[in-house]
Amino acid sequence: MLCSNIILDMRAFKKIKLKAVSNDNLDAYLEALGLLKPLQSGQVKCSICGKTVAKDSFSCLYPDNGEIGIACDDASCYLKALRAKEDQS
Ligand SMILES: [Zn+2]
Repeated sequence: MLCSNIILDMRAFKKIKLKAVSNDNLDAYLEALGLLKPLQSGQVKCSICGKTVAKDSFSCLYPDNGEIGIACDDASCYLKALRAKEDQS
């Protein structure tokens, strides 16, 4: 399941340096991706397990067949997202 509710622009996504994300600028990062409000209002679902992802349970974004997947903080989802990231690099 890909981000069915949200259309993300892959080019905008790539412009943002993922390594620079820390807790301090997570809000700014999510805002830049247009994800902050959807996360706060419960509109985002984990692309792997389908669970609703809130800001607290957001772990990371990862490339998913040219789209952007969103992973929740479940360990298995996070590991799958990490693997997907490694596959792309
Ligand atoms: Zn998940």
